[in-house]
Amino acid sequence: MDIGEKLTILAGAAKYDASCASSGSDGKGVKGGKKFGTSLPAGVCHSWTEDGRCVSLLKVLFSNACRFDCAYCVNRASADTKRTTFTVNELVDLTCQFYRRNYIEGLFLSSGIFADPDIVMEKLIETARKLRTDVGFGGYIHMKIIPGTGDKMIREAGLWADRLSANIELPTDKSLQNLAPEKSGKVILGAMKDTNEIGAENVEDRRKFRMGGKDSVPAFAPAGQSTQLIVGASPESDKTILNLSGALYKKYMLRRVYYSAFSPVGLPGRDGIPDPRLPHAGFSGPEPSSVPLVLGTGGPIKSLILREHRLYQADWLLRFYKFAPNEILEGEDGFLERGLDPKTAWAIRHLDYFPVEVNRAPYDELLRVPGIGAKTGRRIIETRRSRSLSFETLRRIGVVLKRARHFITASGSFIDRPDDPKRIRRLLVDEETLQPLLFEF
Ligand code: SF4
Repeated sequence: MDIGEKLTILAGAAKYDASCASSGSDGKGVKGGKKFGTSLPAGVCHSWTEDGRCVSLLKVLFSNACRFDCAYCVNRASADTKRTTFTVNELVDLTCQFYRRNYIEGLFLSSGIFADPDIVMEKLIETARKLRTDVGFGGYIHMKIIPGTGDKMIREAGLWADRLSANIELPTDKSLQNLAPEKSGKVILGAMKDTNEIGAENVEDRRKFRMGGKDSVPAFAPAGQSTQLIVGASPESDKTILNLSGALYKKYMLRRVYYSAFSPVGLPGRDGIPDPRLPHAGFSGPEPSSVPLVLGTGGPIKSLILREHRLYQADWLLRFYKFAPNEILEGEDGFLERGLDPKTAWAIRHLDYFPVEVNRAPYDELLRVPGIGAKTGRRIIETRRSRSLSFETLRRIGVVLKRARHFITASGSFIDRPDDPKRIRRLLVDEETLQPLLFEF
């Protein structure tokens, strides 16, 4: 098989990993004309580095052969799909060629488990090591930790990769046992724990052994670790998912949890019969705001994409707005509201917290106001040092008054008093998200 065909197969097989924001995008362009803003050659996606830069990555599997049979995965052992594997040299050459042509700034490398986990991990490490040492590749490398690999391998992987990730995939051990019986939550969490401990040890060593203002100890995975959770393949609520994410951020210092709406693409099931363990065409969930309604065959269902979007918004509240998971979802059905972003939903449930006086409130209180973000919160603090804030000033510094107006006062004046939750909800609900959710594929 030539390298072009291998690339097509192994880039296609990697695109369901959500850890790159534009995974699998073919971009949209003028019909018949040159495309603009499209993801360039096969397998190129985007991600963000530690300092917030957007980088394009070559996103591929080393191999799509796999001993495991995870029901939600196109590469599972029982799938009737063409299999192939790169050699280390092929992948190193390909990465260098793409890099030299300016198609990519880095590599996102994962693999099916085609052999013992340590052997697979060694191949990924060898690829990264060769890139760094033989050809002096200085681009970004995101490397998957293969479930079951030992801490020695993780230690070595982090020397060459900027970021490591062990995918937890499903929120509970019960679902893992049902859909990915060869995987174990304990093993995956163990890899995250090891990564975190090695990283902390490395930071300490680098601090201790810094000589003459220079680093004498190489950095271990300086962009930290992340993970991916599939949403909607199993019945867990958003509450379970957010509790897990909150714990992972706290315990293992994860930089990101990526949420990936379950997609039935490429999962016809054995003999064309849908796998009964998975949501499939014709499956009806009880709640439009929660589990999938009807699945098509061309991609994740719209309600799941919306659920993924709400989870990302809630995750943002966990990471940057000092919300605890149990504040975002308080004793409801365990699912985020479909029609309101989670911060607005929290504010409407807690009208007694408002109004917040923008000329006096501390930063943390400002962050609780819908329409005020981290950046605008900082601008408010900065601006009010020299003058008192009016609604017009707030608008100019970026506060979204359409949302914030119900929850703030400026020098004691209201635009709108926070008195009637039903009325505020009616005004702020995101109508578009309440449209019927059945999708044509
Ligand atoms: S281990 Fe599971 S998720 Fe990973 S490639 Fe194999 S079948 Fe897919």
